[in-house]
Amino acid sequence: MDLSLIVPLYNEEESLPELCAWIKRVCDSHAISYEIILVDDGSSDNSWEVILQLQQLNSSIKGIKFQRNYGKSAALNEGFKAAQGDVVITMDADMQDSPDEIPELRRMIVEDGFDIVSGWKKKRFDNTLTKNIPSKFFNAATRKVSKIQLHDFNCGLKAYRKKVVKSIEVYGEMHRYIPVLAKWAGFRKIGEKVVEHRARKYGVTKFGWERFVNGFLDLASITFVGKFSKRPMHFFGLWGTLAMLLGFAITFYLILAKIIDPSGFSLTNRPGFFMALACIIIGMQLFLAGFISELIARNAPNKNSYLIEEKLGL
Ligand code: UDP
Ligand code: MG
Repeated sequence: MDLSLIVPLYNEEESLPELCAWIKRVCDSHAISYEIILVDDGSSDNSWEVILQLQQLNSSIKGIKFQRNYGKSAALNEGFKAAQGDVVITMDADMQDSPDEIPELRRMIVEDGFDIVSGWKKKRFDNTLTKNIPSKFFNAATRKVSKIQLHDFNCGLKAYRKKVVKSIEVYGEMHRYIPVLAKWAGFRKIGEKVVEHRARKYGVTKFGWERFVNGFLDLASITFVGKFSKRPMHFFGLWGTLAMLLGFAITFYLILAKIIDPSGFSLTNRPGFFMALACIIIGMQLFLAGFISELIARNAPNKNSYLIEEKLGL
């Protein structure tokens, strides 16, 4: 199979028939063998019934239905596990991404040798104030931290070599940082293609303003996890050691001062005394956190599991 299309969806019943028909048209006209994996992320509308009907008409359509809404990352993750195509393309269900981009994205993976090609919505059809401006900051911060030169990390339209999606795990809300996850998994050839972006035709956006708060918290944790998840003691131990050294240095100074001038301040009346105390306690705490993280890192199973209610054609 040449291509797996993974479409995470949450309450997108109106868009699905049009989207699937369009994908089929594009793939057929380019003689690409494909599967469409529709991941229903616990929709409360009739999305799953629509998927069942679509599958009757086109056996290339497959489905996964979550028991409840786990979020876009979980949906992508399950889609990635199921994908069989040599190239995997993810796409939003709301038809803001155009299936016409599929052949060129696939060509860039197959012929140009990219591991990932990320879409860039250069001209966006979203609300300027709530999306476009915050998204500029978000992308700049992610570029800075990850050193990956992409303009649009959060674009739903992306293409991957199969090996990439089988080597990464998308959890929490990490779908915004898949190129970063891939880079840390060792995939270096990350490219970009300007893609057409369209206004949402049906339904409403599923993400509100919280996306920016969550996005930045995720950036902090992804940086930490990427660097230290396999060796947390190197992080906690460093800061713990520094805190304790500082604490001991202040203690030493206080004792010295007391020996030189025994009739001066009482030891416990000096601010330095409390600083030393705090430093030593914090240092110990950091060390303990480091040890506990090491134990967890050694024993944690490397899997996320979601409750899947039904699978179709997989
Ligand atoms: N989505 C999902 N689970 C969620 C939220 C969103 O599968 O909990 C899907 C949604 O149906 C759509 C895609 O993720 O296919 C992108 O969502 P949306 O279009 O609402 O985001 P926006 O384009 O506004 O950034
Ligand atoms: Mg959208």
